[in-house]
Amino acid sequence: MNLSGKVAVVTGGSRGIGRAICLELGRQGAKIVFSYAGNTAAAEETLAALRELGVEAKAVQGSVTDAGAVKALVDTAVKELGGLDILVNNAGITRDGLAMAMKEDDFDAVIDTNLKGAFLCAKAVMRPMMKTRRGRIINLSSVVALRGNPGQANYCASKAGLIGMTKSLAKELGSRGITVNAVAPGYIETDMTAAMSEAAREAMLGTIPAGRPGTPEDVAKAVAFLASDDAAYITGQVLQVDGGMAM
Ligand code: NAD
Repeated sequence: MNLSGKVAVVTGGSRGIGRAICLELGRQGAKIVFSYAGNTAAAEETLAALRELGVEAKAVQGSVTDAGAVKALVDTAVKELGGLDILVNNAGITRDGLAMAMKEDDFDAVIDTNLKGAFLCAKAVMRPMMKTRRGRIINLSSVVALRGNPGQANYCASKAGLIGMTKSLAKELGSRGITVNAVAPGYIETDMTAAMSEAAREAMLGTIPAGRPGTPEDVAKAVAFLASDDAAYITGQVLQVDGGMAM
């Protein structure tokens, strides 16, 4: 998984899985540009951890829902770090609630961030990747996209949409040396899942053959593999990183 000389853009890299992805890609030799929504202190922590590893890294504040901010993110990679080889669409949000009571705004916000945001980022990296005739786009989906989840109609729709988009882009970009894959994590312990009750957590653990929750690092290692030259002939796939939860 040698990523020396590669430049990676990771959305939502300030914490959780995004931070672990930045660190793992950096450990494998990539230079990193990551975006974050607004938590400057968390972004500074990721930057400090990357610099401690000796990784050249930049953080760019801005939402993936804003095409101007996405352009600034991609420009930072191309103009300041000398290229763009890897895009990881990691930024994501939840606005859970049963469909009957779900506000339209909560549906729209989740689709806008998780699905349209990933589209805007993918669109922005296509030209620089096509120029060099190589690239890796990795979209963070979820096992709930495959199975559904009560209270998450918006989130599951966004993550299932990402799978359809992954396969379509894989077909559009395959001949240009660009692979597009999705990683579907199961239950990973991060801020996103911290609100879960102890009873729900126990019930969830009972469904995982591996017998433990996943860590952000478990997901990051799968992303690093798909980002590497070793995965050149893998495209349009959904790699579940879930300890067997959604077989
Ligand atoms: P998290 O809430 O800890 O982190 C999400 C990150 O996304 C944060 O850095 C946040 O700043 C960023 N973000 C949110 N909205 C943004 C926006 N509009 N623009 C830019 N950045 C934005 O979540 P996490 O658990 O680390 O999840 C990371 C990804 O993995 C998400 O796409 C999530 O849906 C997916 N995922 C997580 C789990 C899990 O169990 N934690 C399972 C399956 C999939």
